[in-house]
Amino acid sequence: MRISTDCRTLLDAIALPVVLMEADGRIALCNREAKRILSGADPVQIGDLLQDREQQALFLRTARRNGRFAHLTLHLKSPLDTFYMATSRVRQEGQKGGGFLAELLPRQLAVGGMHQLSALMHHTADLRRRRAAAEQSARAALSEACKDPLTGIANRRAFDEWLEDLLQDQKRALPFSLLFVDLDYFKRINDTHGHDVGDRVLQRVARLLSGALSRRGGRLARIGGEEFAVLLPGADVHAGLNVAWRLVMALRDFNRSCPAGESWQPVTVSVGVATREAGSPWTRHDLLRASDSSLYLAKQRGRDQAVHAALSGRAGLPLSPMPAGKR
Ligand code: GH3
Ligand code: MG
Ligand code: MG
Repeated sequence: MRISTDCRTLLDAIALPVVLMEADGRIALCNREAKRILSGADPVQIGDLLQDREQQALFLRTARRNGRFAHLTLHLKSPLDTFYMATSRVRQEGQKGGGFLAELLPRQLAVGGMHQLSALMHHTADLRRRRAAAEQSARAALSEACKDPLTGIANRRAFDEWLEDLLQDQKRALPFSLLFVDLDYFKRINDTHGHDVGDRVLQRVARLLSGALSRRGGRLARIGGEEFAVLLPGADVHAGLNVAWRLVMALRDFNRSCPAGESWQPVTVSVGVATREAGSPWTRHDLLRASDSSLYLAKQRGRDQAVHAALSGRAGLPLSPMPAGKR
């Protein structure tokens, strides 16, 4: 191997011991730092630097196979025994063959570094696993905290968050409607048939309301004892009242069609609707109060109906898609 002066100067400038060797393991050059450590010793081949000279062949085989490697089982002999060797293949332009460049790195630093790196990788994987598990249980806890235990649908907390999101979302520039759904004379069911039957009726009502809302994009929550709320993003006054009537009808239909069963007692619902128009200055308080007054009107007018106060007019007649005679 021919070594130019530039190459020698470059290798001598490296602060670590470096050995340049031919492809057969003969040493072509030791840089200044390697010579300093070897102090006068004149190794001829790389095997002269190994604790077990016989391992030169193994070393060369491995070095040829790997572009770069750190063979930690091949120990260097004193005074290089505190180093390990990392080799890279070198090729010289315009010349056949080539050789290897061996950098000698302080063993403590390299081995310690590798242990640390592997521990760090292990630790990182462990952290990632633990973080995923924590996120999963936080999600589960959050979903549990937003769920009504009796009916399994969303609870008041979830409703409050949805409403807040809709009120904040001014960019959408879309109206939305809020429906308050209250069971009519529910206390009588409890009083006559007991609280457990009352509970099962509530569970059934939740399922009926969800069913009636599916495909209409409404969000249903149980916000109180026998009170439910529905948020209808994008629904204007008419769409809101229309969905409200569908809920009323869902209960009427079920009362008619349900075979007499121990857990079902016919019950109707009254629904109060309010709509917040796009860009309206209405606050949460205004909206809740408007839905409440609509519900109050529905109760006052005989229950089992839906009322939108904004459409009911001064005469106080609910605007209903159902002809009065059919109700
Ligand atoms: P209205 O048509 O005026 O709404 O009459 P109502 O009887 O439904 O209204 P009221 O507010 O007088 O009674 C509501 C009842 O709901 C009282 C309470 O016993 C019952 N209730 C509230 N929460 C639950 C519950 O979780 N389970 C059962 N079984 N009953 C409940
Ligand atoms: Mg009530
Ligand atoms: Mg009630």
